Amino acid sequence: MVSRVIPVDPFDLVIFGGTGDLARRKILPGLFRRFCAGQMPEGSQIIGAARSELDDAGYRDMVADAIAEFGGQQACEAGTLDAFLSSVHFVTTDAKGDGGWVELNSKMRDDKVRAFYFSVGPSLFGDLAERLHRFGLATPDSRIVVEKPFGHDLESAKALNATLAQHFDETQIYRIDHYLGKETVQNLMAVRFGNMLFEPLWNAQYVDHIQITVAETVGVGGRGGYYDKSGAMRDMVQNHLMQLLCLIAMEPPAKFEPDAVRDEKLKVIRALEPVDWHHIVRGQYGADDDGPGYRDDVEDPKSRTESFIAMKCHISNWRWAGTPFYLRTGKRLKARASEIAVVFKDAPHSIFGADAGRHRNVLAIRLQPNEGMTLDVTIKEPGPGGMRLLDVPLDMSFADALGPDAEEAPDAYERLIMDVIRGNQTLFMRGDEVEAAWAWTDPLIEGWQARNDVPKTYDPGSSGPEDALMLMHRDGRKWREVKA
Ligand code: NAD
Repeated sequence: MVSRVIPVDPFDLVIFGGTGDLARRKILPGLFRRFCAGQMPEGSQIIGAARSELDDAGYRDMVADAIAEFGGQQACEAGTLDAFLSSVHFVTTDAKGDGGWVELNSKMRDDKVRAFYFSVGPSLFGDLAERLHRFGLATPDSRIVVEKPFGHDLESAKALNATLAQHFDETQIYRIDHYLGKETVQNLMAVRFGNMLFEPLWNAQYVDHIQITVAETVGVGGRGGYYDKSGAMRDMVQNHLMQLLCLIAMEPPAKFEPDAVRDEKLKVIRALEPVDWHHIVRGQYGADDDGPGYRDDVEDPKSRTESFIAMKCHISNWRWAGTPFYLRTGKRLKARASEIAVVFKDAPHSIFGADAGRHRNVLAIRLQPNEGMTLDVTIKEPGPGGMRLLDVPLDMSFADALGPDAEEAPDAYERLIMDVIRGNQTLFMRGDEVEAAWAWTDPLIEGWQARNDVPKTYDPGSSGPEDALMLMHRDGRKWREVKA
């Protein structure tokens, strides 16, 4: 299979926070990979902007180091790195002061697409937006890219939206949730809306329940201070798991176009019922030989922030009434694995008798590692001795099915940055979506704070607290194993 790379128009991309962790780990190596693939055309400019006193040469050295460390395998011709670096510049710029802005403006070209990536803390978003206008960098066609977290609660998200709206139209604002840039997540829409096979069964009549798991093996590491103010609900559920839930549950949009898709996602969020507190389990990882427990990691022996959450949700609409959605995410779990599993109901009548046991079709969509899908189907156990049934997975690993193309597929950040340049907002969150997600999560957080809820301790390397298993067992169901 030949991958088709369609180059974008030449662009000027300013990365505010161009010396930061995200720029070095994801944005700059990602741009280099797009350059290698022929998608980022020559004649484009990348301008790092941060407070550091660097010149172009110093910044290019930093970018080359970042590519060497985080660039992954490159199938690039000799000389490509030099060609890429020649398009990289740096301007010392202060988001909170006026230094650097005139020089930055002098680098911008009138005939090129302009994108401004806010890879800085959210407290600087307003300053950047205001100065982009005051110093004349923002044109009607310019776009800004903003990183998570988008607010801390509904009130702060509204304030952030209002600040950005003073200077930019909604069509110019690209709120990143990098989960939406993952190949499998987009495949979810292709599988649902490109096939006849699944959609007729995609409802409460045929689906018993849906599980969404995003498990990490790492703890909070050096991010303890930030994480402890946030927790799994704010850091993962309000954004990433919510987006996955929307894509799995939404109605088919009339077209694969930004507002058509985002309108449908918004309807899902608005149809989410408040969650009964008996249906929420929060946890904190304990200590083991490999590392300290959560409270030591965040240096607060009384912390009540969760590093794990599991919950049972319901979507009140015609399609999903009565079908539970179980969400779970946590740190220091057994394996690094993200998966969505659609568990179908039992066949209405078994012609094979009670001895054949219970067999269910499960469509599991793996986000990481080894992106792909499996469909468990029931077959006859081979051999003589009567009709015994067995569930076997039809396994499709994208790497196996697509060969080298799968490896060359852009990672989430690369794809999303190219979408920004193309002006395609389909895979970015709209302001009202983010607010609706906070409107659902805020009362749940306030609820456990009012009850002084203490998260349960769980063993590192496990699947989370025992209570999370019980959440399913009580309903006669069980979580799928967390495995890499
Ligand atoms: P970082 O602290 O490593 O980098 C911050 C950058 O902002 C640096 O380049 C710094 O020089 C610059 N900066 C700070 N104050 C400035 C000012 N007044 N004027 C100009 N530049 C200034 O942070 P990071 O990890 O790169 O994260 C950046 C943003 O991306 C944050 O909003 C973070 O929440 C988000 N994010 C990061 C990651 C990640 O993996 N690092 C993942 C998701 C989201």
